[in-house]
Amino acid sequence: MIFEVLTTPNPKLRERSREVLVNEIKTPEMQKFFDDLVETMKVEDGIGIAAPQVGNNIRVIIVLTKKGPEVFINPEITFRSIKKVKEEEGCLSVPGVYGIVERCKEVRVSALDRNGNKIQPDTKGFMSIIFQHEIDHLDGILFIDRAKKIKAEGTSRI
Ligand SMILES: [Zn+2]
Repeated sequence: MIFEVLTTPNPKLRERSREVLVNEIKTPEMQKFFDDLVETMKVEDGIGIAAPQVGNNIRVIIVLTKKGPEVFINPEITFRSIKKVKEEEGCLSVPGVYGIVERCKEVRVSALDRNGNKIQPDTKGFMSIIFQHEIDHLDGILFIDRAKKIKAEGTSRI
């Protein structure tokens, strides 16, 4: 099933999403939700998506990694570099708007995978930007809150 992607100013994009309980992860409903969220991201041609963007306020994100689309549950940033980097961002929930956002150059993330195993995903390079952008969604934060410059054209599909 492909979900409708909510766009701003939908209030669901502004909530703090709740943690997923460990015993929820392996339920067929949750596993189907992961699959559907991955499919939705693919259809939208995104490189990342967060559950609240489809109206489900739980702490789940999908990131397109080298291995393909991967599910990260209850992701937490455990390290942030002092060094910052400025990159162009866009968002499926903020169509037609792009902006330059300053973020930490490096972060480390701890999360659970779709089987409930604790993992530390590879967050090198632009991956660190995607993780920061998606984890922001779980706290109701959109890139436009952080962007220094907003413009109508761009290519980013976070
Ligand atoms: Zn986004």
